[in-house]
Amino acid sequence: MNYKIAVLAGDGIGPEICAGATKVLEKIGIKFGHSFEFEHLPIGGVAIDNYGTPLPDFTVEKCLKADSVLLGAVGGYKWDKLPGDKRPEKGLLGIRKAMGLYSNIRPAKLWKQLADASPLKHELVKDGIEIIIVRELIGGIYFGERGRGKENGAEFAWDTEKYSVPEIERITRIACELALKRSKKLVSVDKANVLESSRLWRKTVHEYAAKHYPEVEVTDVLVDNMAMQIVKNPAQFDVVVTSNIFGDILSDEAAQVTGSIGMLASSSLGDTTCGLYEPIHGSAPDIAGQDIANPIATILAAAMMLRDSFGLTAEYDAVINAIERTLEQGWRTADIYSEGCKKVGCKQMAKLVCDNI
Ligand code: NAD
Repeated sequence: MNYKIAVLAGDGIGPEICAGATKVLEKIGIKFGHSFEFEHLPIGGVAIDNYGTPLPDFTVEKCLKADSVLLGAVGGYKWDKLPGDKRPEKGLLGIRKAMGLYSNIRPAKLWKQLADASPLKHELVKDGIEIIIVRELIGGIYFGERGRGKENGAEFAWDTEKYSVPEIERITRIACELALKRSKKLVSVDKANVLESSRLWRKTVHEYAAKHYPEVEVTDVLVDNMAMQIVKNPAQFDVVVTSNIFGDILSDEAAQVTGSIGMLASSSLGDTTCGLYEPIHGSAPDIAGQDIANPIATILAAAMMLRDSFGLTAEYDAVINAIERTLEQGWRTADIYSEGCKKVGCKQMAKLVCDNI
């Protein structure tokens, strides 16, 4: 098969880490008989410098025509003083919106070889953990009605958490599809003991999953309990589905438990298989251009693209196994280095992963 991938490398370490990820995809292509065609397009600061906007129209058009999109990161000191709507980050929000991406999938994986990086006790993480949080991305309280007023002389403000059945169903579908490919277990997080929107959320998730994905076992966890369980026993979770605000908070908590920002990727998906795949970290301007960034988060993003956009699970597994082998062999970039390991740069780390495929 031939796959057309739009590559939005962006700023800072973006070009270095994307180069590593595309090398890994090329190696997968050779091994499994696919060809990947990369189209490099501007976004963020580099687009502001060259085209006067963080998201040129042609970038959007070409992303919409691609089979999938790989993103590095945007932003940097140079553009920090620009007004909000002209900043590099605006490009990121713009491309998510233009592609209609309503789900954000963030696996918080702690590799057992890096268990020492976790702030949790060794016995809780010694076998590694992987919590995949599927967050609803364009609904709920962040997009609901809001306002300010004055009552009896006191100022007040309000926000609204509102979810419709179709909005809950479409995110449940994404989560169930993922659960099917993994443990077939799905945890739905809500606050149904207090919030009406959560009661509808819970009912809809169960009804939709039972009707369309009877093989998937759905259990409910209240958000306050979930926040505790992530630090108490993170290994019990696999795929988790939740609303925009709960997902925002819990995915940061889960990421922190892994202790290593250079190892985490995320994907955003909508109704089509064309998604946006990216590392969760930013453009790291402090280390840009020095060949010391960790490319693994972006390589993982590319692996997620293979599985979730192209349905290539054996190819996904091949990348994951190669990363595991590379870590087992003791190779580390500076951010995950510990005594006794062998330190390598960004290019070399990507090459080692390729060699291990
Ligand atoms: P950051 O994630 O870029 O960096 C935080 C720290 O982690 C830095 O010390 C950095 O060197 C390190 N780091 C990040 N990625 C790494 C990697 N792959 N390997 C090794 N070390 C790594 O966050 P920040 O410093 O707050 O933001 C820098 C810029 O990135 C800002 O302009 C911010 O707006 C932007 N940003 C972009 C995105 C995105 O594009 N999705 C996300 C977050 C921040």
